[in-house]
Amino acid sequence: MPDPLETMAARIDGKAFAERLRARIGAAAADFVHTAARRPGLAVVLVGDDAASQVYVGAKGRACEEAGIASFEHRLPATTSAAELLTLVERLNRDGEVDGILVQLPLPQGLDEQAVIAAIDPDKDVDGFHVINAGRLAVGQEGFVPCTPLGCLMLLQDHLGDLSGLEAVVIGRSNIVGKPMAQLLTDANATVTLAHSRTRDLAQVVRRADIVVAAVGRPEMVRGDWIKPGACVIDVGINRLAPTDDKPKGRLVGDVAFAEAAAVAGAITPVPGGVGPMTIAVLLRNTLVAAHRHAGLPPPEGL
Ligand code: NAD
Repeated sequence: MPDPLETMAARIDGKAFAERLRARIGAAAADFVHTAARRPGLAVVLVGDDAASQVYVGAKGRACEEAGIASFEHRLPATTSAAELLTLVERLNRDGEVDGILVQLPLPQGLDEQAVIAAIDPDKDVDGFHVINAGRLAVGQEGFVPCTPLGCLMLLQDHLGDLSGLEAVVIGRSNIVGKPMAQLLTDANATVTLAHSRTRDLAQVVRRADIVVAAVGRPEMVRGDWIKPGACVIDVGINRLAPTDDKPKGRLVGDVAFAEAAAVAGAITPVPGGVGPMTIAVLLRNTLVAAHRHAGLPPPEGL
C-alpha cells in the first residue's frame, strides 16, 4: 500500500510566488522612479456598478500603490455613452503619466467591448487583449501577453524548469486564457493540444498530458482519473458553488476536482491561492515593462 502522503501532489503556491514577484516589481519600480523621475502609471477604467468588477478594480488599485505604481481610477456611470468612453481612452492614450490602460470587463450592455479595446494604444494595452498584441504573440514579436496565461507559464517554469518536449493539454480556447496559453506553451517548446467544448473524449486527451491547464469555467470537471501520474496541473477556473450552511457565500472551486487530482498529479495549483493571485501580479509586471519601454529604458531584469 503506497504511503498516501507520498502520492500527494506538491501544491504550487501561487500566492507566495505572486508575493515574491510583487516584491521584485516594487524594487524595480523604485529604480524606475530614480531614473525616470516619475512613477510607472496604470489607468483603470470601470463603467457601471458590477459588484465583482468593483472588487477587482479596488484590488488592482491597492496592488499598484503597494508596488509604487501610480493608479489612476476612472469610475464612470453605467449610462456612459460609447463616445464618452472612447474620448476617455484617447485622452489616456496621450497622457504621458499613463503607461498602462485597463478597461475592466464586462462593460454594461450597449457598449462594444471590442471597439473599446481596439481604441487602446497597443503599447499601453497591459491586459494584452488588443488584436495587435494577439498578433504580436502569434508571430513572436514583443508586445503584451494576457496576464492570467503569462502567470500560469511563470508557475510552470518555476516548478518544472525547461518545458521542452513536454505534452501540454490546454482545456478552453478563450482569447484571454486558452488561446494565449497554448501559444506561450508552444513558444516554450511544449507539444500543445488545445482542447475545447467540441473535443472528443476529453478524458483520454488529458491523460497523455505532462502539463494540464484547465480554463473552462465548469466546477470540478477534470477528474482525478483523467490525470497522468506525476503530471503538473494548473487550474485557472474560479467557480462559486451554491451556498451551504457552513459556507453561506458558497465554496470556491476550480475546474479540477482537487482532492482526486492531487492524489495522482506531481504538482497542482489550489483554488483559491493558485493562479488567481498571479493575474494582478502580472498586470503590475506588464505595467512596469510598459513604463520602461515608454521611457526608452532596457526591460527590468528578472521579471
Ligand atoms: P470562457 O467562458 O471564455 O471560455 C471557456 C472555454 O472552455 C471555451 O473555450 C469552451 O470551448 C471551453 N469549454 C466549455 N465547456 C467545455 C467542456 N465541457 N469541455 C471542454 N471545454 C469546454 O472562459 P475564460 O474567460 O477562458 O475563463 C475560464 C475560467 O477561468 C473561468 O472559471 C474563469 O472564471 C477563470 N478565470 C480565472 C482567472 C484568474 O485570474 N484566475 C482569469 C480569467 C479567467
